[in-house]
Amino acid sequence: MRETLPVRTKITTSPTEAAEFIRDRGIGAFPTETVYGLGANVFDADAVEKIFAAKMRPADNPLIAHVANLEQIDELTSVIGENARRFIEAFFPGPLTLVLKRSARVPLIATAGLDTIGVRMPRHELAREFLAACGVPVVAPSANLSGRPSPTTWQAVLEDLGGRIDCILQGEATEIGLESTVVDCSAEIPVLLRQGAVSLDELRHVVAETVELAGDDCEAAAKSPGLRHKHYSPTARVVIMGAGSSEPLPPSGRLAYIGISEGVAGGELQMVCRSVEEYAHALFEFFRECDRAGIEMIYCEAVPETGIGAALMDRLRRAAAK
Ligand code: AMP
Ligand code: MG
Repeated sequence: MRETLPVRTKITTSPTEAAEFIRDRGIGAFPTETVYGLGANVFDADAVEKIFAAKMRPADNPLIAHVANLEQIDELTSVIGENARRFIEAFFPGPLTLVLKRSARVPLIATAGLDTIGVRMPRHELAREFLAACGVPVVAPSANLSGRPSPTTWQAVLEDLGGRIDCILQGEATEIGLESTVVDCSAEIPVLLRQGAVSLDELRHVVAETVELAGDDCEAAAKSPGLRHKHYSPTARVVIMGAGSSEPLPPSGRLAYIGISEGVAGGELQMVCRSVEEYAHALFEFFRECDRAGIEMIYCEAVPETGIGAALMDRLRRAAAK
């Protein structure tokens, strides 16, 4: 993998100015409703390679293409089956990625050599203006250094990628705070590959046969290569606590707590969220804050696995698995 040379990172609030960098064969970060993405023109293999270099992302981890309109989905894919059409109708624009058979135009580097491509249409207003101004589908993984928690603020993007990317489109903190739901629609039965804000129940409401990815980690990794890479991890160790526990944190070490229950005593940093949604929204930034403060262990309260709670528990388990 080529190392990137330091570049000047332009920070702008203008979606058209940010889009100029993409049109100029560069790479730039932009906000969406899930997390900030790091984008490049999907059809420009050299620009796509710069994403892998800037993030230090393994080459076998495929990227998601972001579209401004439905026509762009046709440029990226060769087949859109009936189930995929129903999901598009129900959830686009929104926090759902569909894995579809890719068209011959899509360079292999973007899909990590797979014959499929992940496609999403964000609903975030600034993202939509930016994508429309780019005029092409934009591949964008999360705008963090590989393995770090996904960025939910533009400052977190700057922390990881300042001097490594051409531009940051400055927006608010992202609404959802966890990455999109990913569903493989390239075969007969839709398979949920990654939990996100669109839940399995909601998917089944539209296509009843939708199944969760089963099998051991190796099989799962073959289906969705990125899943086997370490993700979402702060430097601090993550420990999952039982829901509703009022046990105090241990008396020694530099500790932190995040959850929805009040009254967990101890720890240097504490974040008590009013809802599971707020917990999901706050998690990755809290991880980063803990690292900045030199925290050694982060105690995270478990939540029921319904709605966004399923995605939150998935991220907590991955962060805790070191
Ligand atoms: P990120 O955008 O950094 O959250 O990473 C995108 C993730 O989406 C990858 O790590 C994969 O797990 C999944 N993904 C993207 N494209 C595909 C694809 N063609 N087939 C299966 N999974 C995919
Ligand atoms: Mg990522």
